[in-house]
Amino acid sequence: MEKGEVARLMAAARAARERAYAPYSDFKVGAAALGDDGRVYVGVNVENASYGLSLCAERAAVAAAVAGGARQIIALAIAADRPAPPCGACRQVIAELGPEATVIWEEGAGGYVAKKADELLPERFRLEGGRGS
Ligand code: ZN
Repeated sequence: MEKGEVARLMAAARAARERAYAPYSDFKVGAAALGDDGRVYVGVNVENASYGLSLCAERAAVAAAVAGGARQIIALAIAADRPAPPCGACRQVIAELGPEATVIWEEGAGGYVAKKADELLPERFRLEGGRGS
């Protein structure tokens, strides 16, 4: 991915992060998904008093992309105040809707890590006849 594109997506993720709802962990995360329609969709983590119901920023961004009309995720950037690679649940969702997607998270001063979704979850669960099977 081109550096300018990474910077644009990361800026969107960082801006979204400000709106995260994380009163329990105080770990705010923002994500920005580039859809195959060329649009950028953002998501934030949304926690809940019933902890297990908390939603990750990555899945929120992917859901926003699908709701907005994108059929595939081309890239996904994740912003937090420390390196935040996606959790296992998010990797499964990202891999189905963007097996070729580049997943990016910040690491080090001004640096970032970029990996392909399939690389993050090489043996993901698939349903026979389902997408990507
Ligand atoms: Zn997650």
